[in-house]
Amino acid sequence: MGNSHITIHNKAFRPYLSAAHLDEAVARLATRISADYAGRRPLFVVVLTGGFMFASDLLKRYIGECEIVFIRVASYEGTASSGVVQEVLGLREDVQGRDLIIIEDIVDTGTTMHHLLPTLQAKGPASVEIATLFFKPESLKHQLDLRYVALEIPNDFVVGYGLDYDGLGRNLPDVYVAV
Ligand code: 5GP
Repeated sequence: MGNSHITIHNKAFRPYLSAAHLDEAVARLATRISADYAGRRPLFVVVLTGGFMFASDLLKRYIGECEIVFIRVASYEGTASSGVVQEVLGLREDVQGRDLIIIEDIVDTGTTMHHLLPTLQAKGPASVEIATLFFKPESLKHQLDLRYVALEIPNDFVVGYGLDYDGLGRNLPDVYVAV
């Protein structure tokens, strides 16, 4: 990775984490998860779209039997009493009694996971854990148990390696940060 800035939608970004650095962090996490789930058959639940590249690299390094599904989450404001309603799209598998590991690109305020966890818990899995590429501890607004974090980062906007800025940048192998 060079040290030149890039421009996406007229916004400047500087190189932040190289593909090699990401690869190392993802490999370390895969080793941990493989050890923790030895002898089990977890169901990885990949949250699209941002999580696709992280999931691909993580799962290539996961050792053991596993299944993989892809979901999308759509959140919208319900009535005042129901608050935020979250819909999980694409989960047709029966998750009852399964060990679920959610694969997410980034936990920022934690709102997405705060709503997704109970939605999945309601389907009766044996366990649910979260594996996230990035975690911004300074932004967290909800109590969340994040078992698997590849990298903690400060409260800055990042793109690349699956993460976009207004639709662009997901294909970049390195991660950039807004300047
Ligand atoms: P949360 O619900 O935890 O606040 O945010 C989760 C979602 O916000 C992520 O899945 C991601 O789509 C988006 N997000 C949060 N921070 C960043 C960031 O730094 N860069 C990009 N590209 N997306 C982010």
